[in-house]
Amino acid sequence: MLDSLFTENQISKLRKLGIKSLFDLLLHLPLKYLDKTQIDLIQDISPGGSYQIQGKVTYVKTAYQPRKNLTVVIEDATGSLQLRFLNFYSSQSRQFSEGVIVRAYGEVNPKSLIKEMIHPDYEIIVTDKPLPKCLTPIYALTRGLGQKSILNFVKKTFDQIAKKDTLLDHFPELNIKRNLPDLTKSLRELHMPSSTKPEDIDPYRKKLIYDELLAHQLFFRGLYHQQKNYIAKKIIFDRSLHDAFVSSLEFTLTGQQENCFNEIMSDLGCSFPMNRLLQGDVGSGKTVVATMAALQAIKNGGQVGFMAPTEILAEQHYIKLRDWLNPLNISVEFLSGSISAPEKKIIYERLVEGRIDLLVGTHALIQDKVRFKSLALYIIDEQHRFGVEQRLQIRSNNKTRAHEEAHQLMMSATPIPRTLSMSYFADMDISTINELPPGRQPIKTKLISDSRRNDLLTIIQKHCNEGNQVYWVCPLIEESEVLQLETVENTFQQLSSFFKSQTIALIHGKMKQSEKETIMQTFKAGHTQILVATTVIEVGVDVPNATMMIIENAERMGLSQLHQLRGRVGRGSKQSTCILFYGKKLTDTAKDRLRIIYENTDGFKISEEDLKLRGPGEFLGLKQSGLPSLKIANINKDDDLLALAKSDAEYLLTTKHNDIQSHLQRWISDYQEITRT
Ligand code: ADP
Ligand code: MG
Repeated sequence: MLDSLFTENQISKLRKLGIKSLFDLLLHLPLKYLDKTQIDLIQDISPGGSYQIQGKVTYVKTAYQPRKNLTVVIEDATGSLQLRFLNFYSSQSRQFSEGVIVRAYGEVNPKSLIKEMIHPDYEIIVTDKPLPKCLTPIYALTRGLGQKSILNFVKKTFDQIAKKDTLLDHFPELNIKRNLPDLTKSLRELHMPSSTKPEDIDPYRKKLIYDELLAHQLFFRGLYHQQKNYIAKKIIFDRSLHDAFVSSLEFTLTGQQENCFNEIMSDLGCSFPMNRLLQGDVGSGKTVVATMAALQAIKNGGQVGFMAPTEILAEQHYIKLRDWLNPLNISVEFLSGSISAPEKKIIYERLVEGRIDLLVGTHALIQDKVRFKSLALYIIDEQHRFGVEQRLQIRSNNKTRAHEEAHQLMMSATPIPRTLSMSYFADMDISTINELPPGRQPIKTKLISDSRRNDLLTIIQKHCNEGNQVYWVCPLIEESEVLQLETVENTFQQLSSFFKSQTIALIHGKMKQSEKETIMQTFKAGHTQILVATTVIEVGVDVPNATMMIIENAERMGLSQLHQLRGRVGRGSKQSTCILFYGKKLTDTAKDRLRIIYENTDGFKISEEDLKLRGPGEFLGLKQSGLPSLKIANINKDDDLLALAKSDAEYLLTTKHNDIQSHLQRWISDYQEITRT
């Protein structure tokens, strides 16, 4: 622990760097290394390069006008060099006086006509000081903790550890197998290199990345294997019911929908709970696959929960599932926060008595009062909108008397990039639909500057007159809900006064549920031509006749959100268009996003790009999720090591290696809290 070596004051500074334990401190790796092993001659230095120079001060000038400025000139046998400091303490300026020997390290200012270093690292050399024999580490700092203190802290920690042998490798056999150095040596070399060549350090860094990825794999694959220790109701496939349902559909299933269903069925036939993610681009038809699974669970005497992240989406699912399943004598009910208390009570009662087969709803489904009599399958749509805890809660809330847990099927229209499915999603199985139902036409995307919006109104009018429907999406304004409401309402007013002969409606998150329902139903039935909406329509809304979408201030939205929104059109056989309006000032990231969404329609490609742009932490919302993050490894760059770690973790888990727990505890600081026991 930190308090065994450091004062409270020091500990609070270390915390600012995210360091909570001695091991964290050792993982605070240098950002880079400087070669201070030799002194360069001033005559040999050139602009833009970094050098170490030693010379005698020949001139010092402190100025306060127009800006604070300290200029020091030093000279060696070959020439002179100016050192300049813009921010300095008076104690600093007093150090420099003519004749003093200064050793300075820094970059030669490429913009200056004379040889100059700005804010170099420097020391005053009193008695001849030997040069370091190896590379000098440079750390990320925080106020009150300089390079020297951090290095001293690290050294102190090493002394302590050397006494106690606490940094031994857990799996030395894997070092041999993968040709990796041992852990203690690696950490030592990373902080106190014995070499002068930065590339010599690479293998040590690689070792740490490997160890971290291994822990990560042990965590997620550990969860995966752990599930086999729980019991679940086996669901036996009933072909005649399945066929009856499939033949009642207004379409034929695609090959991939069938494959995914078969994968799910084979899981459901097991006596331990399924934990499967069904991923497929927006519009690929995941709902019907989930419904077929639900049907089998119900036929086997179980109940099914179907949870979606928004009321609008849950409501749509409810209507669709009711229409599909009522003819087969299956009772489908709806539950959300906006249902009245007495109605809720009735649902709770019927549910626990087993008189509801399928309950569709929002987060309301995971409340304590909601108890199924025999929950066999849980379906979670748009799973990335839910935290891990929420997903686990459903199961533990609803264990049956025989201690059975429900099978779990998650769905996502934000496809998981390959590296993530190998890491953060390694605790589940994944089924993928990567084709759209036949007859869909690719959506046309147009990027249009906001200043040209008026030109567009006539085009939209014509589009409506040809019998099409339009979504007009107003931006998310994170800073203020009031402002957001104002914006949609204004837009609605403006558009209403322009589109006199069209029916136009407004929908936003602040409306009452019943109001939203009516508006969606009217739009779906084709009685409204233009629907002005906030991003509440982002997920799941399904109106095949809506073939045009306008997105305002598209530059403010994230990639997956844009892709989801765009996926609301192109759901029928007609050609659809998505128009992205963008404002004046675009950041580089905003430009990147717009370019990516313009150039790509494939959700997998967009996800990959999004991951590159944002990194896994933000992509997955790791902070909120409670999942362990990676400190050193980068799954985008280190995918080769990821593959090795994955196979080694599998081996350790199957052989039930004794040191798995210790390795997890070393690398995953909140390890105890996250495991589900
Ligand atoms: P998502 O995968 O985005 O959740 P949905 O399940 O909402 O997609 O399906 C989108 C639309 O495609 C729905 O109207 C659905 O009924 C329809 N659909 C699903 N499968 C097929 C298919 N095989 N052929 C034609 N239409 C389909
Ligand atoms: Mg869906």
